[in-house]
Amino acid sequence: MSETGTQPAFVELVDRVVSGLVPPRRVTATEYAALTCNRCGRCCTDIFVPAGPERVAEMAEARDRSADDRRWLAGLVPVQPVAGGWQYTCRHVAQLPDGRTACAIHEQRPRVCRGFPFEREIRDWPECAWYVRVVDEGGTPP
Ligand code: SF4
Ligand code: SF4
Repeated sequence: MSETGTQPAFVELVDRVVSGLVPPRRVTATEYAALTCNRCGRCCTDIFVPAGPERVAEMAEARDRSADDRRWLAGLVPVQPVAGGWQYTCRHVAQLPDGRTACAIHEQRPRVCRGFPFEREIRDWPECAWYVRVVDEGGTPP
Protein backbone atom coordinates (compact mmCIF):
# COMPACT_ATOMS: atom_id res chain seq x y z
CA MET A 1 0.00 0.00 0.00
CA SER A 2 1.36 3.44 -0.84
CA GLU A 3 2.15 5.94 1.92
CA THR A 4 -0.63 8.26 0.76
CA GLY A 5 -3.03 5.32 0.97
CA THR A 6 -1.81 4.29 4.42
CA GLN A 7 -2.12 7.70 6.06
CA PRO A 8 -5.91 8.18 5.71
CA ALA A 9 -6.48 4.55 6.80
CA PHE A 10 -4.31 5.10 9.88
CA VAL A 11 -6.05 8.37 10.68
CA GLU A 12 -9.41 6.62 10.42
CA LEU A 13 -8.19 3.85 12.75
CA VAL A 14 -7.10 6.43 15.33
CA ASP A 15 -10.45 8.21 14.96
CA ARG A 16 -12.30 4.94 15.60
CA VAL A 17 -10.32 4.17 18.74
CA VAL A 18 -10.48 7.72 20.09
CA SER A 19 -14.15 8.25 19.34
CA GLY A 20 -15.63 4.95 20.43
CA LEU A 21 -15.78 3.27 17.01
CA VAL A 22 -17.84 5.99 15.36
CA PRO A 23 -15.60 7.58 12.74
CA PRO A 24 -16.09 11.33 12.45
CA ARG A 25 -17.46 12.62 9.17
CA ARG A 26 -14.76 14.14 7.00
CA VAL A 27 -15.36 17.73 5.96
CA THR A 28 -13.29 20.38 4.24
CA ALA A 29 -12.59 23.69 5.99
CA THR A 30 -15.29 25.27 3.83
CA GLU A 31 -17.79 22.59 4.82
CA TYR A 32 -16.76 23.00 8.47
CA ALA A 33 -17.47 26.72 8.28
CA ALA A 34 -21.00 25.96 7.04
CA LEU A 35 -21.90 23.53 9.85
CA THR A 36 -24.89 24.47 11.99
CA CYS A 37 -26.20 23.09 15.25
CA ASN A 38 -28.75 20.29 14.84
CA ARG A 39 -30.00 20.83 18.40
CA CYS A 40 -29.33 17.27 19.51
CA GLY A 41 -28.81 18.68 23.00
CA ARG A 42 -25.82 16.60 24.00
CA CYS A 43 -23.67 19.62 24.88
CA CYS A 44 -26.44 20.85 27.22
CA THR A 45 -27.20 17.51 28.87
CA ASP A 46 -23.83 15.76 29.04
CA ILE A 47 -21.62 18.42 30.59
CA PHE A 48 -18.44 17.19 32.24
CA VAL A 49 -16.98 19.20 35.12
CA PRO A 50 -13.99 17.92 37.09
CA ALA A 51 -15.74 18.87 40.33
CA GLY A 52 -18.68 17.57 42.36
CA PRO A 53 -21.94 19.39 43.09
CA GLU A 54 -20.76 21.05 46.32
CA ARG A 55 -17.68 22.50 44.66
CA VAL A 56 -19.70 23.61 41.63
CA ALA A 57 -22.12 25.41 43.95
CA GLU A 58 -19.15 27.19 45.56
CA MET A 59 -17.74 28.07 42.13
CA ALA A 60 -21.12 29.52 41.14
CA GLU A 61 -20.85 31.91 44.12
CA ALA A 62 -17.16 32.82 43.77
CA ARG A 63 -16.84 36.55 43.25
CA ASP A 64 -13.51 36.17 41.45
CA ARG A 65 -15.39 34.57 38.55
CA SER A 66 -17.22 36.56 35.93
CA ALA A 67 -20.97 36.94 36.35
CA ASP A 68 -21.36 35.15 33.04
CA ASP A 69 -19.38 32.11 34.21
CA ARG A 70 -21.25 32.07 37.52
CA ARG A 71 -24.57 32.13 35.70
CA TRP A 72 -23.53 29.13 33.62
CA LEU A 73 -22.32 27.24 36.70
CA ALA A 74 -25.55 28.03 38.53
CA GLY A 75 -27.47 26.35 35.74
CA LEU A 76 -25.76 22.99 36.20
CA VAL A 77 -27.80 20.14 37.63
CA PRO A 78 -25.85 17.06 38.78
CA VAL A 79 -26.60 13.82 36.93
CA GLN A 80 -24.01 11.33 38.15
CA PRO A 81 -20.36 10.96 39.12
CA VAL A 82 -18.11 9.91 36.25
CA ALA A 83 -14.39 9.24 35.96
CA GLY A 84 -12.52 12.34 37.04
CA GLY A 85 -15.55 14.42 37.93
CA TRP A 86 -19.29 14.69 37.44
CA GLN A 87 -21.78 14.74 34.61
CA TYR A 88 -24.24 17.65 34.71
CA THR A 89 -27.20 18.74 32.66
CA CYS A 90 -28.34 22.32 32.25
CA ARG A 91 -31.55 23.46 33.93
CA HIS A 92 -32.34 25.64 30.91
CA VAL A 93 -32.51 22.90 28.28
CA ALA A 94 -35.96 21.96 27.04
CA GLN A 95 -36.87 18.79 25.15
CA LEU A 96 -39.05 19.42 22.10
CA PRO A 97 -41.70 16.98 20.79
CA ASP A 98 -39.65 16.37 17.64
CA GLY A 99 -36.70 15.09 19.68
CA ARG A 100 -34.60 18.22 19.33
CA THR A 101 -33.78 20.53 22.22
CA ALA A 102 -34.09 24.25 22.82
CA CYS A 103 -32.42 26.64 25.21
CA ALA A 104 -34.94 28.44 27.39
CA ILE A 105 -32.56 31.42 27.71
CA HIS A 106 -31.25 31.37 24.15
CA GLU A 107 -31.01 35.15 23.76
CA GLN A 108 -29.22 35.50 27.11
CA ARG A 109 -27.22 32.27 27.06
CA PRO A 110 -23.73 32.45 28.58
CA ARG A 111 -20.62 33.03 26.47
CA VAL A 112 -19.48 29.43 26.82
CA CYS A 113 -22.71 28.34 25.10
CA ARG A 114 -22.66 31.16 22.56
CA GLY A 115 -19.15 30.33 21.33
CA PHE A 116 -19.42 26.53 21.34
CA PRO A 117 -17.70 24.60 19.72
CA PHE A 118 -14.98 27.26 19.54
CA GLU A 119 -13.81 26.13 16.09
CA ARG A 120 -12.91 22.68 17.44
CA GLU A 121 -13.63 19.18 16.17
CA ILE A 122 -15.95 17.66 18.77
CA ARG A 123 -15.10 14.13 19.90
CA ASP A 124 -17.48 13.65 22.82
CA TRP A 125 -20.76 13.13 21.00
CA PRO A 126 -21.23 11.46 17.60
CA GLU A 127 -24.62 13.20 17.40
CA CYS A 128 -23.00 16.64 17.35
CA ALA A 129 -22.87 18.46 14.01
CA TRP A 130 -19.20 19.21 14.74
CA TYR A 131 -18.29 15.53 15.24
CA VAL A 132 -16.07 15.81 12.19
CA ARG A 133 -12.52 15.66 11.03
CA VAL A 134 -11.40 18.54 8.85
CA VAL A 135 -9.50 17.33 5.80
CA ASP A 136 -8.11 18.99 2.71
CA GLU A 137 -9.69 18.59 -0.70
CA GLY A 138 -7.73 15.31 -1.14
CA GLY A 139 -9.17 13.85 2.06
CA THR A 140 -5.99 14.24 4.15
CA PRO A 141 -6.01 16.01 7.53
CA PRO A 142 -4.01 19.27 7.26
S1 SF4 B 1 -27.74 27.84 28.89
FE1 SF4 B 1 -28.82 27.05 27.08
S2 SF4 B 1 -27.23 26.67 25.54
FE2 SF4 B 1 -26.21 26.86 27.55
S3 SF4 B 1 -26.03 24.74 28.35
FE3 SF4 B 1 -27.95 25.62 29.12
S4 SF4 B 1 -29.55 24.99 27.68
FE4 SF4 B 1 -27.54 24.72 26.66
S1 SF4 C 1 -23.91 18.74 20.70
FE1 SF4 C 1 -23.45 19.96 18.85
S2 SF4 C 1 -25.19 19.70 17.43
FE2 SF4 C 1 -25.82 18.99 19.49
S3 SF4 C 1 -26.83 20.76 20.41
FE3 SF4 C 1 -24.67 20.84 21.03
S4 SF4 C 1 -23.62 22.10 19.48
FE4 SF4 C 1 -25.61 21.51 18.64
